[in-house]
Amino acid sequence: MKNQSAPRAEKYFMECGNSEAEDEPPGAAAIVSSLEEEPPGTSAQRRRFFGHIPDSLWNDWKWHFRHRITTVNQLTGFIPLTPEEQAQLKLVTIKYPLSVTPYYLSLIDPADPEDPIRKQAIPSFDEIALAGIGVEDPLEERRDSVVPGLVHRYPDRVLMVLTDICPMLCRHCTRKREWQNGGWVRTASEVEAMLDYIRAHKTIRDVVISGGDPLTLSTSHLEDIISRLRRIEHVEIIRIGTRFPVVLPQRIDNELCAMLSKYGPIWLNTQFNHAREVTPEAAAACDKLLRSGVPVSNQSVLLRGINDSVEIQTKLCQGLLKIKVRPYYLFQCDEVEGTEHLRTPVEVGIKIIEGMRGYTSGLAVPTFVIDLPQGGGKVPVQSNYILAQTGNELLVRNYRGHIYHCHNPRVKAKAKLVPVPVPVKVPVPVKVAVPVKKGGIRDADRVIVRS
Ligand code: SF4
Repeated sequence: MKNQSAPRAEKYFMECGNSEAEDEPPGAAAIVSSLEEEPPGTSAQRRRFFGHIPDSLWNDWKWHFRHRITTVNQLTGFIPLTPEEQAQLKLVTIKYPLSVTPYYLSLIDPADPEDPIRKQAIPSFDEIALAGIGVEDPLEERRDSVVPGLVHRYPDRVLMVLTDICPMLCRHCTRKREWQNGGWVRTASEVEAMLDYIRAHKTIRDVVISGGDPLTLSTSHLEDIISRLRRIEHVEIIRIGTRFPVVLPQRIDNELCAMLSKYGPIWLNTQFNHAREVTPEAAAACDKLLRSGVPVSNQSVLLRGINDSVEIQTKLCQGLLKIKVRPYYLFQCDEVEGTEHLRTPVEVGIKIIEGMRGYTSGLAVPTFVIDLPQGGGKVPVQSNYILAQTGNELLVRNYRGHIYHCHNPRVKAKAKLVPVPVPVKVPVPVKVAVPVKKGGIRDADRVIVRS
């Protein structure tokens, strides 16, 4: 049953084998693929559809990019769909297009309509049936663009959007509104305008490059932009938002890693949503990044019927730790039009984190956050462990529900800490107090596109 579609898949690849020019990744002509690639590991799923594809192509990210599945007719070569389902999906893709890489498609169990990988990649009729719920741009990202492609909302960080192209169109994407725009890459003059703005604003110490997925650009194109950013003295860190390690890990090749290693500190945030995405190929990609000095963190999205249980989230996060990726955030799915069928009540996320806390290492427990509508920013939400507070005492429950009394030292209003008096033999006073700013620092991470 699971191999029934393979002959049709092979036919599809034979038929579209000459379409390289029209689907070449942006800037790909500049990519030199002279480096030897280690095979990223074998996968049983790959054999289901793509056993006939030689390793030299399977390990080539440009091959996957060129052979993305983008129509319902192509999809039927891999996933059994009734005529009615095909008709429905064709309607959906008029509004919300389809794009899946062969690699990610190979992770799907075609016999299971509830497969968690399938639900992230294959359209659902609910996308248009429930289209009246949600809004196009819940985070109001358009509002804070200072020049085309550059969002500056908070004092010390900006978001550079270099392209709207992604290798896979995730059905829960916050930026589904951009999918109709046909694919664009910022021009040289637009990039220069962004860099000019960053040069002129010395408070900017953190630049997030996201999109669309910035790793769809060629390595040389990316290097041109990153190297110019690096020459700006006040830019301390660069962050890249990308889903490539999950949907097309072959992109994380030696050439890319060698380039990134020259311009650190560079941090990379990706989006694994299910343990089945943590494949040998994905593990190899993350390992390469880490060995190149690029820390990898995960920002998953809580999705109905995909990862909305304690067991699934625990397995995912423990799997990520095994490949040295830090589970960083778990997002409440945004109120995006066309995603309502994948959204869960907020209580589900709170309960999941509560069910993980204490039962597995704290390193494996992400922070559950809501990215507030209208650009309100990210807010962490979790169960309250403080049951009561009286005088100098707190009543706190632990993860098992046991209750504990904690002494809570009270600080008198005027009892400010001062430098310790200087002993005779000590030449310099030792300060024991560090003033704390009121209000803290605002969180600007919400500008990261969910890549
Ligand atoms: S979630 Fe990220 S990778 Fe997926 S379509 Fe949206 S921007 Fe692209």
